[in-house]
Amino acid sequence: MTANMEHIDVLVSEVGPRDGLQMTKRVMATAAKQAWISAEAAAGVREIEVGSFVPATVLPQMADTAEVVAHALRIEGLTVAALVPNYVGAERAIAAGVHKITIPVSASETHSLRNVNRTHEQMLREVRRIAERIRALPPHRRPGFEAGLSTAFGCTLEGPVPQDRVVALAEALLEAGCDEVGLSDTTGYANPRQVRSLTLAVWRAVGQSKLSGIHLHNTRGLGLANVLAAVDLGLTTVDASLGGLGGCPFAPGASGNVVTEDLVFMLESMGLRTGIDLDALCRVREILKQELPDEPLYGMTPQAGLPKGFSPAALAQTGGSEA
Ligand code: ZN
Repeated sequence: MTANMEHIDVLVSEVGPRDGLQMTKRVMATAAKQAWISAEAAAGVREIEVGSFVPATVLPQMADTAEVVAHALRIEGLTVAALVPNYVGAERAIAAGVHKITIPVSASETHSLRNVNRTHEQMLREVRRIAERIRALPPHRRPGFEAGLSTAFGCTLEGPVPQDRVVALAEALLEAGCDEVGLSDTTGYANPRQVRSLTLAVWRAVGQSKLSGIHLHNTRGLGLANVLAAVDLGLTTVDASLGGLGGCPFAPGASGNVVTEDLVFMLESMGLRTGIDLDALCRVREILKQELPDEPLYGMTPQAGLPKGFSPAALAQTGGSEA
């Protein structure tokens, strides 16, 4: 999809500094966030969602996002992404100079009202304003603009979310001016068959080029199974969080996002290139252990170690990707 896909098969997008940290009890120091981002980039991670531009009164963990962005922008080859809840957040993200803006739009209107106090119509208006703002910038300063279809696989308030509604919302968001949409299993309800059918339904409506990424949680242990369904189908960007940081307040013992280390292990051992050095990636956990001693870190691969004879995809003689 992007220039950052050069020589890789799957773009692993690290969202820990945003999705993970917004759930932690302790506020991580700015310097620690910056060290974390640098270390992951050095391990080969090419895209990181480094924070969100929400009011500090709402999420004190994200008060320093502009400073974190400034640091991340100095790392060569790294796509610096940020999440914004609305137009004001997008203004701040643009001023900070991010490469990519993601706005979550809940497929469940009840969830949208509860979380951001906005209906779908109001969210679409916000998206239109942001798209206009971006178009007014000189071409080299325009960030990519994605709408994340949150609760696309089900909602804690509404329960099942009809596929048609997700598809209609995707169409409306693209018409409102987003570059692309992403599917987001905010609640950890998704299963592999659903990943397949919803992805295909959205592709049929808007075209494959408008949906390349998926955001999955491991709340019920299906995170990697869902990734496999997505990647087999041809989705090329997968979100993940180092150490599964963040957890789920409703499911103690369950990691938050898909664990980056386990995801990279799965992809690389399947012969799919991520560009990430797994040993170096696992060492980045030390930063989290030190800075967030109270947070549980998840991930089976870092605990078990790499299998004897494990060979990363880029070096593997056999089992290369046929996709
Ligand atoms: Zn999430």
